[in-house]
Amino acid sequence: MGNILKYSKIELLFNMPLYEKLTVNITEIEKVSREEEVTDDIFDYVQDIYEEKYPVEFNALIEFLLYEDRIYGYCSRCKRENSMQILKLDLDGKLKNKTLYGQLADDFDNYDEEYAIYELKNRINILIKDHEYFTKTVYCSHDKNHKFIFIYNLYLEGENLILQKVGQNPSSVDLHNRELDKRYSKYKNYKVIKSDLNKALICYHNNFSIGGFLYLRRVLESIVEDKYIDIKENLDKTKQEEFESHNVKFKEKIEILKEYLPNYLTENKYIYSVLSKGVHSLTEEDCNKYFNIVENSIYIIIEELLELQEKENRKKRTEKFLNEINSEINNN
Ligand SMILES: [Zn+2]
Repeated sequence: MGNILKYSKIELLFNMPLYEKLTVNITEIEKVSREEEVTDDIFDYVQDIYEEKYPVEFNALIEFLLYEDRIYGYCSRCKRENSMQILKLDLDGKLKNKTLYGQLADDFDNYDEEYAIYELKNRINILIKDHEYFTKTVYCSHDKNHKFIFIYNLYLEGENLILQKVGQNPSSVDLHNRELDKRYSKYKNYKVIKSDLNKALICYHNNFSIGGFLYLRRVLESIVEDKYIDIKENLDKTKQEEFESHNVKFKEKIEILKEYLPNYLTENKYIYSVLSKGVHSLTEEDCNKYFNIVENSIYIIIEELLELQEKENRKKRTEKFLNEINSEINNN
């Protein structure tokens, strides 16, 4: 289980998968000393002030509840990028005060060690009473009825608070797929891999990351097969037979296509073994932890494929023109 600091505030909205549980530490109270200039009737002098503040993770939770911002995002109702407003929650005034207890250094002998703990418990009770389930809303500035809605559950479990996302609309998968379409639709094999990429994300966002690994592996297989079909003619018969043989390992296929595949893939042949390991022996939790890294590796490969494709197209266009110039010159 990760803690709340795993995601930034905006990622807690748009990237945190459904039902993932994030812990929020409520025991490590921050202890801060600072100096403050004070003026009384006669002197200006500096006083030491000692304060106990929210634990870092609990503070991050409060910051998330109070988070408000303007961002650009795709509104599926307007069907375009618009300015979006993230709304803050209306919190009890006590929760907004991040200091639990404080005292001047002069009085330190009488410091009550227990008070900050008592006060934090109090505030957690208020928080859970008011916001056991809470909704963060992001609305489209063109029309406030166009909304993104994210629903969370907060509860105590042992020594920790738990934050869990329990619902959202539109789904992370919808949001993510739109982004993928925008970035990769020009890749010629995109139509074939799109469905498996989408399913990988559906699995991940519903906390079935082993399934996500399986679909990402299929994407990788499809990329390599597609490249083989493209360049098959350039390989000699032995290589073709080797590639098509039932016993061939994926690593060997990559080796055969080495000069045609993205460097990132040929230099990191083990991506496939990592994906297979996920399918066969890693736990759901491990796969969840590693998913974003292998997912990003796949994107890097697709980006390189797009570059190769663009380069190839440019070459063909230029060759065609060169040919025309050549025949023009020779005919004159
Ligand atoms: Zn809109």
